[in-house]
Amino acid sequence: MHFQIISRSDEISSELQRKMIERLTGAGMTLNEESPELVISIGGDGTLLSAFHKYQHRLKETCFVGVHTGHLGFYADWNPEETDELIDLIIEQDFEVIEYPLVKTKVMCADETHEFLSLNESTLKMPRGTTLVIDVSLRKGLFERFRGDGICMSTPSGSTAYNKSLGGAIIHPSFRAMQMTEIASLNNRVFRTVGSPMVFPDTHFVRISTTTELPHAVAIDHLHFEIGSIEQIEYRVAKESIRFARFRPFPFWQRVRESFISN
Ligand code: NAP
Repeated sequence: MHFQIISRSDEISSELQRKMIERLTGAGMTLNEESPELVISIGGDGTLLSAFHKYQHRLKETCFVGVHTGHLGFYADWNPEETDELIDLIIEQDFEVIEYPLVKTKVMCADETHEFLSLNESTLKMPRGTTLVIDVSLRKGLFERFRGDGICMSTPSGSTAYNKSLGGAIIHPSFRAMQMTEIASLNNRVFRTVGSPMVFPDTHFVRISTTTELPHAVAIDHLHFEIGSIEQIEYRVAKESIRFARFRPFPFWQRVRESFISN
């Protein structure tokens, strides 16, 4: 099997990376940066987000697994003390593949279209904190005019990240869905939005029309872009999924409990 390790590059993560490379190559596996079948991320959930974006062009061929060298993560759910057990299981190639949904963001500008995949979420704001004014359309046409700081369209596995801070629901990643939350909407007698997070199935889309040609701030997970002359933005549950190598059961709700309540 061909593998690659993406590390946060702190001392503990780098030492684990060295040890894993030594043992895995010693067992006849090949370190392959170009086309790995298994990507091991060592660090935190942020490290796994970077690994996902590096290999998002080969999601059908690549599986991911995460080791956390800080606190328990949602994607990085193996702890450093379990690394020997994890290495044995990788060598035996004894794993199941589970798929988590992604959000596709299509940004249509006057002269080009940009497409992005998010593992956590896609957010839309104005640069420098000015108010975002957009028309939000669902399948049957205009739904609302939004004014406020921005909107966040989250994947189920990203529902425990920014979405949760915005009051969104935690959604089990077995649902092929996406969730829209408002970021500080203006609501008074003149401006009105629904005010609640909304969850969409994979057969629906959300379309945003901008009201100015000024650049907008589009964030895809940890990546930030300023894009001008946007005509429309469309959000959907992506056809592509991320594939995780699952070596042992670690139920999602248990991870939620251990991350947010207590272990
Ligand atoms: P960061 O600000 O360095 O870290 C954001 C925090 O979110 C880290 O503690 C990270 O865990 C955690 N995280 C990432 N994905 C998660 C998930 N699916 N469930 C629960 N926690 C998760 O930023 P970053 O490392 O570049 O990551 C970008 C992410 O930050 C975005 O995708 C967004 O979700 C999140 N964010 C959150 C807020 C907020 O809650 N107010 C605001 C902006 C962005 P690790 O420490 O394990 O890496």
